[in-house]
Amino acid sequence: MTHTEFLALVTSIRDEQDKLLAEKGADYTQQSDDVLHNFKAVAEWTGLTPIQIWSVYFAKHILAIMSYVRYGDVKSESIEGRFRDAGNYLLLGEGLITPAEKPIGTYDCTYCNKKGVGYNVHYDARGRCKRRASKDYDSPDDAT
Ligand SMILES: [Zn+2]
Repeated sequence: MTHTEFLALVTSIRDEQDKLLAEKGADYTQQSDDVLHNFKAVAEWTGLTPIQIWSVYFAKHILAIMSYVRYGDVKSESIEGRFRDAGNYLLLGEGLITPAEKPIGTYDCTYCNKKGVGYNVHYDARGRCKRRASKDYDSPDDAT
């Protein structure tokens, strides 16, 4: 593949990714203006953080790609679609970590039990309670 051929492919893939983002975005947001709504809603239901929810969805795409690498086949969706979705998920993940991203609602911290904490205020970038001593996170209890 020449450099020119590759650039043409990239342009074609990016067009398709933009279409997918627009189409699937409508499904994911459930009539919210917030494109990251689904991650936040599932985070509230589960007590996990939005970026942790994102990581599960993203891992699904990566596992499908790894399955293709290993077995040469994927079910239910084309391998090209999996690559394109994975690329879009990287964008959504980066959207979740931008400083401008505001949390919806409040959370009850499962680490320190403080009620009604703001997500960006109370948790660090890894979704860990800022009030909890960092040494606690390295204890064997957290290995599970
Ligand atoms: Zn806390």
